[in-house]
Parts: sequence; C-alpha cells; structure tokens
Amino acid sequence: MKIIDLRSDTVTRPSEPMRQAMATAEVGDDVYRDDPTVITLEETCAERLGFESTIFTSSGTQANLIALMSHCGRGDEYIVGQLAHTYKYEAGGAAVLGSIQPQPIEFEADSTLDLQKVAAKIKPDDIHFARTRLLCLENTQNGRILPADYLQEAASFARDKNLVLHLDGARLFNAAVGQNVAAGDITKHFDSTAVCLSKGLGCPVGSLLCGTQSFIEEARKWRKMVGGGMRQAGILAAAGLYALEHNIDRLATDHENASHLAEGLGKIDAIEIEGGKAHTNMLFFEMDEATASELALFLQKSNILMSPGKTIRLVTHIDITEDDVELIIEKINSFFSARK
Ligand SMILES: *Cc1c(COP(=O)(O)O)cnc(C)c1O
Repeated sequence: MKIIDLRSDTVTRPSEPMRQAMATAEVGDDVYRDDPTVITLEETCAERLGFESTIFTSSGTQANLIALMSHCGRGDEYIVGQLAHTYKYEAGGAAVLGSIQPQPIEFEADSTLDLQKVAAKIKPDDIHFARTRLLCLENTQNGRILPADYLQEAASFARDKNLVLHLDGARLFNAAVGQNVAAGDITKHFDSTAVCLSKGLGCPVGSLLCGTQSFIEEARKWRKMVGGGMRQAGILAAAGLYALEHNIDRLATDHENASHLAEGLGKIDAIEIEGGKAHTNMLFFEMDEATASELALFLQKSNILMSPGKTIRLVTHIDITEDDVELIIEKINSFFSARK
C-alpha cells in the first residue's frame, strides 16, 4: 500500500523517467571538470536564474556553507533570521568551519527581516566588533513567499550598507510558481542564491549555488575542502536537469493540494490553520503534543506519515495526489470525531 508522507518534501522519490535520465547520463570526473552532464546542469541553472556561474553541491547545507565561506572571511559577521535554516538547522557550520559570526534576528510575521532592525545590528567599523559583511534571506521561509517589493528594498538596503545579499532559496521555485513570476525575477536582487533540487523538484540528491564567476571559483575550492568534490556526479546532475525541465510548473499542483488540505482541515473544530490557509506547499497548526502524538500514530495505521510536535507542519509534494488529500482529510476528521 502507498505511503502518504506529509513530513517534508525531501521525502520524494525519483520518478521512473527521472531514473531513466540518470541511468543514461553521460558522465566523467567532475573534479577534473570532465562531467558534461554536471556542466550542462550548472550552465542551465546559471542561465535560468540570471547568474554568471553555478556550482552543483551535495546538499543545500553545503551550498549555503560554501556561499558564506566564499563571501565572508574569518572575523566577519552575517545577519540572518533566528529560525533561518542557515543559522538554526545547519549545525552552526558558518561559525564552526568559516569562523563567521552569525547575528540572528527574529523574522517578522511575513517571514521578512525588518530592515531597520537589520540596520541596528550592523556593527560600526571599530576594533571591538566583527565586520558585518552579509545579509541572508530565506525564500520561501516556512512556506511563505517574500513580497516582491520587499526584495527590491532589501537589495537597495544591502547596496547602501555595503552588505552582500545571499538568498537561501532552498524552495525558490515554490516561491516563483506561487508568485507567478520567473525565478530570475526573484534571484536578480541577490549576489548569490542556493537552490535545492532534492525537495519539491523531486531529485534524490543535490543543490545548486549561483553567483559571479569569481565567487563560484572560490566556492569550488571550499566545496573541495568540505568533501563535496564529487566524481561521476552526472548521474545526479541528470536528475537535476530532468527536474528543471519537468518538475517546476507542476509545483502549482502541490500548492493547490496544500490549499485543499488546509480548507478541509480548517473545517475541523479542533484545528485552526495558522494564517487561515496554506503557504505554497505547507500548512501549520498548533496542537497539544500528546494529541499530536496520538494523531500521528492513528494516521500511521493508514500509512499516512506526519511529524508530531506542538506545531504540526504538513507538506505536499510530487508524491501526494489530490485523492491522497481527500483521504488525509477523511482520516483526520475521523480521528477527531471519535474523540468527541
Ligand atoms: C532544506 C533546506 C536547506 C538545505 O537542506 P539540505 O537538507 O542540506 O539540502 C536549506 N535551507 C532551507 C530553508 C531548507 O528548507
């Protein structure tokens, strides 16, 4: 029986045609720059997102890490959201491996960083302080899309303040599809961008980091240092190329499915969907942890997986269909009806 996995969009499995593309990929040793499929993927991504150059990485964590290490030196500082992936979920890599001091600040309710609050954290040029060098934004952040006019303001703010602007765009294409713009219209505001292939795009492995030619050359050295120089990586890059061609526009379906799920669950008395709706491919609601654990166990009997916790996050993706959404709503409904 099929497993319906709502824990994340990282759980997606490569489709049959993606596996075909991988199986037939032309490969070479990419550390020698001999792998034509990796090079094609990097060039395709750079062109699509409007950057000079791109590097294929083993993960989004690695892409963000080498981005920060390429932009910042020892004793530099980067400003980042308190709940940002780069700060909170990447094992402190920038500080540990890059000697880069993070300066986290709270996200606003719309997932932006208030630029006035950012300005207040920029350190003066003084021997006491780390050198504030970079501002890192995340899009989507908890499924939320950063508003287009905010990106414009952030870019001119960064220019004024002499800060490099990096985007953790793990789910960049969800933002672009959700906003109905080309991904390049988002990335054009940034000096560099990381994008995950292994989430909604359905690849088994891989991320991409984009920026100027010299920045990517620097990143290539750091990637080697952290063990990310991959050899016949064309096998993986072929999945990425397949995804860029076939799996971007269809993200709209994931967003519709998340919306339907939010609507259906919103009708249940015990559930109040955060913000009243889904954000791109995610929806959130609060629940006491004991009930959440019971619910997770109950759903598991129907092969529906969710992560329990105080805040429940449900994520739609390529392996979840409209029918699955109906089944999820029905099962969650019956869980709460039985408790009345
Ligand atoms: C998933 C994710 C990453 C990178 O994660 P990896 O698992 O290392 O690929 C980075 N930023 C955000 C916002 C993410 O959701």
